[in-house]
Amino acid sequence: MNDNRERLRIAVQKSGRLAELSLGLLRRAGLVFRASRDRLFLYGENLPVDVLLVRDDDIPGLLLEGSCELGIVGRNVLDEQRLADPNASASAELQALGFGACRLAIAIPDASTITTIADLAGLRIATSYPAQLAGWLRAQGVDAEIVVLNGSVEIAPRLGKADAICDLVSSGATLAANQLRELVTVMQSEAVLASSPHTHNAATMAQIERLCMRIGSALSGEGVRLLLLQAPRTALPAITRLLPARELPSVLSLDGRPDDIALQALCNHALDWQQLEDLKRLGAHSLMVLNVERMLA
Ligand code: ATP
Ligand code: MG
Repeated sequence: MNDNRERLRIAVQKSGRLAELSLGLLRRAGLVFRASRDRLFLYGENLPVDVLLVRDDDIPGLLLEGSCELGIVGRNVLDEQRLADPNASASAELQALGFGACRLAIAIPDASTITTIADLAGLRIATSYPAQLAGWLRAQGVDAEIVVLNGSVEIAPRLGKADAICDLVSSGATLAANQLRELVTVMQSEAVLASSPHTHNAATMAQIERLCMRIGSALSGEGVRLLLLQAPRTALPAITRLLPARELPSVLSLDGRPDDIALQALCNHALDWQQLEDLKRLGAHSLMVLNVERMLA
């Protein structure tokens, strides 16, 4: 581990499901990047944070060897690494990031007679996640054979290589297209921010903490809107009850209008016309819904 390196390095998927969303989040957290000519490295222009663009499978290893202090990767990939090598010092999951949601699930052919987890005993289950599947089978007390495949797991039953599969599912469309149905979820996953087990230097830790706070603020500000309105003071309780507010609204007095108030409330999502009309019916006027650019709690 290079604890003397002055700049943080964060590993992000180069292309794939998490790539754009990961960079988008870092940009919303305020990072501005300049790409290297080979597009494998993004230099942080306004903060000492650089991005390494890699295959997602390489991210846990980069954290373990200390080449990167941070990584954005699916929990499924991180946990597989951790379970596959329980003696290695473990990377920590610092923060769930709210995108890349999927589940590792066991699926069986539509025509299969399997109905319960116990029915899997003695069968062959194809997966790219053998460590997680083995742990789950052990916890369930089911003895099944694990067939490790690195891709195209969903066609294994049709090829006669397996009786069931254990693979990532989000919408279920891929399963349906391969005449498979879900039996049970093994684990829930989403993209997470993970840290190297070798980061001990106080200055590096402080930098990581600062970046985490920025990311946390970017995440909690997502979709947030600011509602502004004026109303008769007597209408305030009814209006407050109707607000989809994150916290109690701020209520301000208006100069020379003791019977009226101005209100501002942070809402978790945009209010639709129906909600604005309902507020208006309660006496609210001068309604405005604004996007929130940045938030710092
Ligand atoms: P790489 O080339 O970087 O190795 P990959 O093909 O292994 O990419 P992707 O298919 O881009 O990986 O998936 C990256 C991550 O996206 C997965 O590890 C998982 O966390 C998440 N994900 C979300 N939904 C799905 C899904 N339906 N299928 C697969 N992965 C999903
Ligand atoms: Mg991969």
